[in-house]
Amino acid sequence: MRYISTRGQVQPGHFCEILLTGLAADGGLYMPESYPQIGGQTLKKWAGVLEKEGYAALAANVLALFMDDIPEDDLQAICQRAYRPPKFSHPEIVPVSDLGEGLWLGHLSNGPTAAFKDMAMQLLGELFEYELERRKAALNIVGATSGDTGSAAEYALAGRKNVRVFMLTPQGRMTPFQRAQMFSISADNIFNLAIDGVFDDCQDIVKVLNADADFKRKTKLGAVNSINWARLAAQIVYYISCYLKVVGANLEEKPPVSFCVPTGNFGDICAGHIAKMMGLPIRHLIVATNENNVLEEFFRTGTYRVRAAAETLKTSSPSMDISKASNFERFVFDLLGRNAAEIARLFGQMVPEGGFTLPADLMLRAREKYGFLAGAATHQDRVQQIRELYQQNGVLVDPHTADGLAVAKKVAVPGPVVVLETALPVKFADTIAEAIGHVPPVPPRFAGIEDLPWRVDQLPADSDAVKRYMSARI
Ligand SMILES: *Cc1c(COP(=O)(O)O)cnc(C)c1O
Repeated sequence: MRYISTRGQVQPGHFCEILLTGLAADGGLYMPESYPQIGGQTLKKWAGVLEKEGYAALAANVLALFMDDIPEDDLQAICQRAYRPPKFSHPEIVPVSDLGEGLWLGHLSNGPTAAFKDMAMQLLGELFEYELERRKAALNIVGATSGDTGSAAEYALAGRKNVRVFMLTPQGRMTPFQRAQMFSISADNIFNLAIDGVFDDCQDIVKVLNADADFKRKTKLGAVNSINWARLAAQIVYYISCYLKVVGANLEEKPPVSFCVPTGNFGDICAGHIAKMMGLPIRHLIVATNENNVLEEFFRTGTYRVRAAAETLKTSSPSMDISKASNFERFVFDLLGRNAAEIARLFGQMVPEGGFTLPADLMLRAREKYGFLAGAATHQDRVQQIRELYQQNGVLVDPHTADGLAVAKKVAVPGPVVVLETALPVKFADTIAEAIGHVPPVPPRFAGIEDLPWRVDQLPADSDAVKRYMSARI
């Protein structure tokens, strides 16, 4: 399996060659040269693996298709270390629950930081350690987070050898629980930076650092943000496991299942797109945004319009307060028949603001061939979904998952529809309290976290300041 850039200007590379890099050198994103196909008997075999050996073994089977330069025994061991209790609080790792009327929840937030980012990041931590050890090399990770990515990365990499993490966060835009979770990490290889700006300012700084070839080489820069291919690969696995669990004994008929996915960066749902391209029987992939509806607008109108930072609303599902979707280029690459020159033209001049409009025939293809639908939810929708589900089923969901539920109900396609749960309610206590009149329970494993001391440094939204800070600590 080789990987190519969406902008077509770099040599194809194998998995271990692209694992430690973020953007490709031409500014594009890495994609598999072709999608491995799930053959007739494969799903049946995987169902057996999942049932008898569990999620980690399924992950090793699926990922072997994409990481064929890692010996299978090593990959099996990596997956077993990444996906196991008590790191994940549920023995099934990703259980599903039936809400009735064709709606299901796929629980992705049983990991160490209670958000779906752990699904990818726990694997990435293992892969990085494995590859750095093999190369006898070191790496300095720089990333931007609106809350969940950063803490998932830090928990996956804290205390590991040969790697440091510099994580940029938008000052004052995370919840108290998210802040406590990140800033209380005491490992020496973890550096938290509070940037005077919004998430997109942080992400822009990361892009500037990566575009500076000299700085990138000197500081051995790496990335763990959602453009890293290994993260997407890890996420393919749970689409497959959710599918297998939902169809159960009906697998022989390969019934199609739809997924409704709360998304901002197009990271979570992009893995669903890849699973569908591999032949997993997915009918619809429903994009669920909050009021920052860049993606919903695209699927409704064909216009992808990146918003300015000042136009990015601060909402009660903050991990989706994103004005440009960093993984979106991957899907458009496929939608345009993998025309790299056109992708380079469309996305090349996108920074800091911009956009493009695709013609109606392509938008039809996005719906019919690729199965995409979209909807946006508001604060009122979230609060109502949280309250209703709690009152009717006794199930408590977080605000992002509530966006997914609201959009699944608005779009109303025939079931089964799996709404991917992306965080536990405890991360967003204020909104939960507004919905049900009291704060959510704190799972025992997080008791007392908000009382721990912080380690964080403040910097302006200035890439030079970040460069100086990093250079002084490497
Ligand atoms: C990151 C995150 C999302 C959105 O993920 P994308 O990568 O934008 O698809 C949704 N919900 C929560 C809780 C998150 O942490």
